Amino acid sequence: MKQFKCAACGQGQVVMLAKPGRRAAFKNIPDLEIPESLELPTCECCGEEWLDDAAAKQLDVALADVYRRELSRKANQALRQLKMAKLRQWDLEPLLGLSSGYLSKVKAGKDVSPTLVVALMLLAGAPNRVEELRRTLRCSSVDAPFDNAMADLGRAHVELPKTEASSFGYMAEFAQYDERRPVVRLRLVGPNQTEMPSSAYCMPTEVAA
Ligand SMILES: [Zn+2]
Repeated sequence: MKQFKCAACGQGQVVMLAKPGRRAAFKNIPDLEIPESLELPTCECCGEEWLDDAAAKQLDVALADVYRRELSRKANQALRQLKMAKLRQWDLEPLLGLSSGYLSKVKAGKDVSPTLVVALMLLAGAPNRVEELRRTLRCSSVDAPFDNAMADLGRAHVELPKTEASSFGYMAEFAQYDERRPVVRLRLVGPNQTEMPSSAYCMPTEVAA
């Protein structure tokens, strides 16, 4: 790049400069950090950046890479928060329309879509909305007593035997409860979204209202 005088301050020379602490908007992230090793045409005096086509293209490539890693980091952070709220990946995959094991790949560093990251972040911020999602995704209306039971009892945590958990996504629903203890009905959802008969497969090992 040929040096030229900065038109912003009228004093400094614009040279290729790399420095830390620069940020730029990229897609839905407003302040992505520009790699500190990336040289951009910058005024030595006032710091104004003067991007020509070549520099803009380089910046775009660099930010796309940072963006991918940032999405992965945010997805993993949300999954950790959801796990702390007792929402495991096999709870979430069927609700988000993901195939079984998809979130394991995300945890292992698979590229993740911004839309999925946003969904995970919103759910991690309000884990009780997972239950709401489970209900509102249904096409048929749920009868009122069932709804009330859900509202009163909050969330149940149910552990499936490991072999079953790896083969099926599942949904747990309150069917009925007495004063002391909710009774949980399991709806197992197979890979092709067909419902599996629950009683043959498992019994809840832990129920916490
Ligand atoms: Zn300047």
